[in-house]
Amino acid sequence: MNSSPYHLLPTVWNELQTFKHVLISAHLDPDGDSIGSTLGLYHLLKSQGIQATIVHQHPVPKNLEFLSIPEKAYLTPSDPEIENVVSMADAWCVLDLNAPQRLGPDIRPFYDSFAGHTFVFDHHVEPSITAHSLTVITEASSTCEIIARLALTSNLSISKDAAQCLYTGIMTDTGGFRHPRTTADVMRLAATLIDCGADPVMIYDKVMNAQSFSSVKLLGKALNNVQVEHDGSLVLMIMRKEDLEGYSSEDLEGFVNYTLSITGAKIGGLITEWPDETVKMSLRAKPQFEVRSITEHFGGGGHMQAAGARVKQGNLEEIVKTIISMAGQSINK
Ligand code: 5GP
Ligand code: MN
Repeated sequence: MNSSPYHLLPTVWNELQTFKHVLISAHLDPDGDSIGSTLGLYHLLKSQGIQATIVHQHPVPKNLEFLSIPEKAYLTPSDPEIENVVSMADAWCVLDLNAPQRLGPDIRPFYDSFAGHTFVFDHHVEPSITAHSLTVITEASSTCEIIARLALTSNLSISKDAAQCLYTGIMTDTGGFRHPRTTADVMRLAATLIDCGADPVMIYDKVMNAQSFSSVKLLGKALNNVQVEHDGSLVLMIMRKEDLEGYSSEDLEGFVNYTLSITGAKIGGLITEWPDETVKMSLRAKPQFEVRSITEHFGGGGHMQAAGARVKQGNLEEIVKTIISMAGQSINK
């Protein structure tokens, strides 16, 4: 028996490559892994002569626009041709998400009524999305790692465009090769992608050095709002709706990482209250601690050490109180 969690990927590829027009989606509020994996798979399919179209709830974030995105390859709900494209497709690959609502409110109804074959490729635990083919590899650092290994184990060549996309998601989901999933195998895979043409210096610069002036000013405010609880074990960065007027989630990308940079911090969180009364939370934990149970309590999910949730019509003060209490239990376990 093959013990590698990746050993079934060639079988999945054999099935996938029988389809003629494949849709590709990932989670709303896209990040490096969701964009990198959808674009990476797009380039792999195209290189094998398979028609592909990406359908996402949200557009590509500015700092990822440098990736190769051919015209008409990436559709959002405001594109009039989306309905037609969905009806023409015979397969749909959903990447980097485990819950159907994470497709986004406009994409999910298409997925729910889709008549073709469905595939999921993901690295989150406990999938609640249904598909004909479910490839969930929780050992993977990122969905980009799964797609890269899909290509390598199926002997597909990885073009420079695909390599750039796949490297990007591995880099962002490992926090720049610093989070616990940064193994020797992941480093070897990154090196293979560099051999295929990914440029690590350029990618780091484009992805990480891309904050707008206003976003950096907002970081100043967010750092000012940091509060500590449980003797410094819990660090919360709280942003109220008046702080966020005129901003979007994209402007706060990466802010949560500052919470764990304080000595003694075990759990960190960015809690944001938006003008439409949605409260979002983005929680992080040091390796021995977990935050997924907290986000699950609020109907969200994620990984043990990086998880999130959004609460519609949420009461910020109540939510913060609950997070402080639940984080206390996690810290004292
Ligand atoms: P982030 O805090 O960066 O938004 O997300 C961290 C992790 O939690 C990611 O793996 C993401 O997929 C997951 N996550 C974030 N928000 C939600 C949510 O609202 N629902 C679920 N199920 N997962 C989420
Ligand atoms: Mn991911």
